[in-house]
Amino acid sequence: MKQEQIKNFCIIAHIDHGKSTLADRFLELTKTVEKRDMQEQVLDQMDLERERGITIKLAPVRMRYQDYQLNLIDTPGHVDFTYEVSRSLAAVEGAVLLVDATKGIQAQTLANLYLALEQDLEIIPVINKIDLAAARVKEVKADIVKLLGVKEDEILSISAKTGEGVQEVLKKIIKKVPDPKIQKDEDSRALIFDSTFDEYRGVLAYIRVFEGELKKGDTVHLLTAKKKLEILDIGCFSPKYSSLSSLKSGEIGYIATGLKEVSEIGVGDTVSNNKDQTALAGYKEVKPMVWAGIFCQEGSDYESLKEAIEKIKLNDAALIYEKESSPALGFGFRCGFLGMLHIDIFTERLKREFDLDLIITVPSVAYKVYSTKGEMKVISSAQNFPDPTLIDKSEEPWMKVDVLTPKEYMGNVMELINEKRGVPQSNSMEYLDERRVVLHYYMPLSGIIVDFYDRLKNVSSGYASLSYEFYEYQPAVVVKMDILVADDKIDSLSTIIYKDEAHIAGKKIVAALKKTLHRQQFVVKIQAALGGKIIAAERISALRKDVTANLYGGDVTRKRKVLEKQKKGKKRMKDQGKVIIPKEAFMAVLKR
Ligand code: GDP
Ligand code: MG
Repeated sequence: MKQEQIKNFCIIAHIDHGKSTLADRFLELTKTVEKRDMQEQVLDQMDLERERGITIKLAPVRMRYQDYQLNLIDTPGHVDFTYEVSRSLAAVEGAVLLVDATKGIQAQTLANLYLALEQDLEIIPVINKIDLAAARVKEVKADIVKLLGVKEDEILSISAKTGEGVQEVLKKIIKKVPDPKIQKDEDSRALIFDSTFDEYRGVLAYIRVFEGELKKGDTVHLLTAKKKLEILDIGCFSPKYSSLSSLKSGEIGYIATGLKEVSEIGVGDTVSNNKDQTALAGYKEVKPMVWAGIFCQEGSDYESLKEAIEKIKLNDAALIYEKESSPALGFGFRCGFLGMLHIDIFTERLKREFDLDLIITVPSVAYKVYSTKGEMKVISSAQNFPDPTLIDKSEEPWMKVDVLTPKEYMGNVMELINEKRGVPQSNSMEYLDERRVVLHYYMPLSGIIVDFYDRLKNVSSGYASLSYEFYEYQPAVVVKMDILVADDKIDSLSTIIYKDEAHIAGKKIVAALKKTLHRQQFVVKIQAALGGKIIAAERISALRKDVTANLYGGDVTRKRKVLEKQKKGKKRMKDQGKVIIPKEAFMAVLKR
């Protein structure tokens, strides 16, 4: 029997340019999803994705169009989730590069395009949102011509919303995306590009078969993990899991492994029927950018927290975690993330999917700290930051940063970069066209993670966009700052900051915390301290209950007695005094 023809592709774009919406139209046109089951952004299946209108996870789906099997992988666009994109790219032969006609080429358009080109993918340029009045199809077309060196008539113009022009995209995919190399070898090899966990079937691995064939019931090996397993179920995404008897060379689908230990299977590993085969190239290991400690409010939740993190890890290949215990915070985990959005999504998932009450420490980058004895330690939490007398010098991670901005906002953007200690690269400015520039800078990561992205959007009326990657470690003079609330040191709020900014930052932090913390029955002192030295302080006044209100007349002694009693009560409360620290507090510390 002739094997069905296959085309594997993904959609890449800057965030919000319409990838998931275009995927919806594909699903409709190919009748993969019944009209009545159609909802907007069908492939965004997590509640969080739907609520926030962003794609967090890559999402594969198989469609049939004319005589072809089309395997599409929808991808996220935010810089924090680039790793999801790069994994999708390794499983396909072509990429639809989608550009919003009102926004034009943006930083993640470029970053994702370069990733696709590195993988030698066929690029299909498409301009989206032509239904909008603000669409600048002609100009955007000219920009794409310049960028890709393609002819103008090779660029399709569509509206993913109305469906206009979407057929042509499918036709172009069939025409231009190369067929996968079919290799019917004895030995099978398939790349795991994602995984998830299912209560009943254990770990599900998402795979692209490069060579041979995998069948239900086969015994196979994970070549890197050196583990044997049985394929309990095999199939494709339609977009729900649908079982098949096998997956052949060129196809994309999943296998159910029955593995219960979620750490046993790694994204990037190779599945093969022959344990002596060599593994496929796999993926570059991701480096986390920011770290935070995650601890339970109740120590007894530790096992649940552990299980929850392991489960999320299976579905979030970029998450890194290790055990940590702290005298003040108890048992927990130190977790590495790709950025603040990643932390936000992760903690939100812990709360929603696992109902855990957590303490999250102020996020930090990883510093290299050299002791006076010449030893180097990587420190990614203020809790573990050594005493200043033991430190010879410290270094912090710097990034290579590209900001794409309309030229009228260039001044604002450069000012912001300066404030965040950025320095220009030797070719610091590149005109993309008459209207827009790409600024190339180096910046400390600590300045990027907090609110750089939001502020960049602010100073550019939303037009500037950002991409960055690790550059190198450079010297930094940093100190640990502690926060005391009602004379208690709050370990989760300690933070590592530049020494020369410490005083100003301390003032800002205590002022911000004053707004965040709830008033108590007693006066609450909020202090920032370096070493043991207080550098800034604020007070939250007590919620004053007027106990004398129902005492009439002028009996001063009675009044005094009652007030005296109240004072004693307050002192008692204060001694037991626990001020509850709300989750917003760490943002207050970060946004100093
Ligand atoms: P993604 O981040 O690239 O996946 O973008 P989405 O598919 O989530 O779309 C972002 C927003 O743009 C959504 O509000 C869509 O409804 C909207 N959108 C997508 N395509 C079009 C289009 O062709 N025309 C218009 N007017 N809006 C669109
Ligand atoms: Mg999306």
